[in-house]
Amino acid sequence: MTAESCGIGEQRVAGLASLIGGKARIRGWLYVRNTVGKLVFLRIRDSTGVVQVVVKRDMVGEEVFNQVKRLRRESSLMVEGLVRKDARAPGGVEVQAEKVRVLSPSLEDPPLRKNMSPEAVWKYRHLFIRSRTMNTVLKLRSSLSTLLRQWLLDHGYYEVSAPSIVTAATEGGARMFEVSYFGKKAFLTQSSQFYLEGAIFSLEKVFCFQPSFRAEESKTRRHLSEYWHLEVEACYMDLNQLLQLEENMLTEVVERFYEKHKEDIERFNPGFRPFEKPFKRITYTRAVELLRNSGVEIEWGRDLGVKEERLIAVKVGQPVFVTHYPKETRAFYHMPDPENPSVVLAADLLVWPYGEITGGGQRIDDYNALLNRIVESGYNPEDYAWYLDLRKYGSVPHSGFGLGFERLLAHILRLPSIRYAVPYPRTQTIVYP
Ligand code: ATP
Ligand code: MN
Repeated sequence: MTAESCGIGEQRVAGLASLIGGKARIRGWLYVRNTVGKLVFLRIRDSTGVVQVVVKRDMVGEEVFNQVKRLRRESSLMVEGLVRKDARAPGGVEVQAEKVRVLSPSLEDPPLRKNMSPEAVWKYRHLFIRSRTMNTVLKLRSSLSTLLRQWLLDHGYYEVSAPSIVTAATEGGARMFEVSYFGKKAFLTQSSQFYLEGAIFSLEKVFCFQPSFRAEESKTRRHLSEYWHLEVEACYMDLNQLLQLEENMLTEVVERFYEKHKEDIERFNPGFRPFEKPFKRITYTRAVELLRNSGVEIEWGRDLGVKEERLIAVKVGQPVFVTHYPKETRAFYHMPDPENPSVVLAADLLVWPYGEITGGGQRIDDYNALLNRIVESGYNPEDYAWYLDLRKYGSVPHSGFGLGFERLLAHILRLPSIRYAVPYPRTQTIVYP
């Protein structure tokens, strides 16, 4: 490819409507080809859209015409020509080719079809992301992550990074991936929370946005084994302030996201309406009563499952914070409620059908209280020595939460599974490509 062919003065498909009557040069990939007598109609896609190109033998010459006539889908090409208005064509314009240059013809017909089986979608993921649907999802994904980051930066949070290779569990050891680390045992991180807790003693308000790893064995629409986790932690914040923070961030970001991409979002999810403040709130204990009144048998003290979460989201309305969970259902670092130590100052935010999209709460900030909870939970305090140190040197009250980024995106777009919210999903059965 020469510099000239990848360069300057070229247009994107989305901008062609403003060039009607003029010349344009576009580069892209062949999406659909149709031959009608002495005309070949090409639909060419680039990152911004699809345009129809008409190729006439007289205009491009015999040799190019014959090449174009046989061109396979996904071949890359460059077209120069006149932009004309055409109400029947996608985007309302058509390009009359004057020059066509095939940059690289597809060597075989690509394995992309209209109704691909789920197996094929995952096997050919590296090609499937070229689809118009995935093109839009990936753009929306990029936009939503930028808006979340920007909101936090605008509100005085610093972005920090945390290691992906760690030595101890945050959410219980069962779902961790083990890695061999120079002959020693280490794990892929399930959450960066502990590292953020360390960072607040320097920066006070922090967040990170990076992958968390969970060896999830359940095949559900809401679990990946590698997902993007937005985690936020701040000094001097209690549970109530934490919920306000989540509520403000989510309503403002989702509103802005909706305003920016209304058309695309509504194409995926015609009924979507941005979140409204205040979010509903219900304590775990109230939720159990409500479930029992609806005929669900649930023991107080058991964690909520998918069925229970659905009923709560439907009965109470969504999104809904479920707060004050029984101590035993949550990890050891959650602060017991001083008014009722059998429950902790924790909250999950539930939506339907994705269930929990955030989980968070106030952390134990007292050294001895944390040490006791570690021992009580059956862990070895030595494994948590550095985490305990954070309570040894100038501890402060603090809280934080973690948001499953793909769950939020999949919820807004009503995707059938969070696997579609990420370009290359990782699950128990998908690790290629
Ligand atoms: P769940 O009960 O739904 O499996 P969890 O309680 O294990 O989730 P947390 O440890 O609280 O999840 O993690 C924080 C957030 O990360 C969750 O609220 C959820 O949005 C997201 N999350 C957790 N596990 C996964 C996963 N396997 N795939 C995608 N997102 C996840
Ligand atoms: Mn949780």
